[in-house]
Amino acid sequence: MITHHPAPELLLDFATGAQPEALALMVATHVTMCPECAAHVAQLQAVGGLLLEQSDAAAVDDDLLQSVLARLDEPPIPTPVSATRPDAETLAIVPRPLRRYLHRDLHPDLGQSLADLPWRSVGWMFKEFRLPLARRSMMASLMRFRPGRAIPQHTHHGNEYTLVLAGGYQDAGQAFGRGDFAAKDSSETHQPMVDEDGECLCLVVLDAPLKLTGTIGRLINPLLRI
Ligand SMILES: [Zn+2]
Repeated sequence: MITHHPAPELLLDFATGAQPEALALMVATHVTMCPECAAHVAQLQAVGGLLLEQSDAAAVDDDLLQSVLARLDEPPIPTPVSATRPDAETLAIVPRPLRRYLHRDLHPDLGQSLADLPWRSVGWMFKEFRLPLARRSMMASLMRFRPGRAIPQHTHHGNEYTLVLAGGYQDAGQAFGRGDFAAKDSSETHQPMVDEDGECLCLVVLDAPLKLTGTIGRLINPLLRI
């Protein structure tokens, strides 16, 4: 059962379309797994719709109308086509909003299954697949953490958002499992411990590089640049 949810202001920004791509993707992915937050977002969007209806209609000039009509004639932007379909494990683990990011722009033929992604090992700690975002102001990655291991103690220059997709971990006495959402800011240093019973797969969004604080961590820091 999901016990950790995005903060209300994150849901509000999502409902109003005010979020950067990486964070919107993360909230959308959580919302597809969490009926509670889905209901909250639907309420916020209903209120937003009412406010729009009650606001005065703006005058639309002819130029705007012509440019909108011209846009309708433009061909749709092609979406990347993969040579293969995601396998059953991927379909079970990865919610729909996230699936279209499971490819490399340069290598769409690698397919969309988790097992086929070009995972990059970051030391012995975790494997990472960096999502091909249209905008790179934030970094979004899938990270696979090994069971029973502590993730090295670290802090952040900015904010770190984590959404658990499979497995789980403990952090500061709290348990996080599939669907749980965690947000940490630059004032917090933490050292999550991955559960013993299996690998933990997370979607992680950073708006600034991670900063490992231990001796070994400092050697690995250059690998973690956004
Ligand atoms: Zn939720």
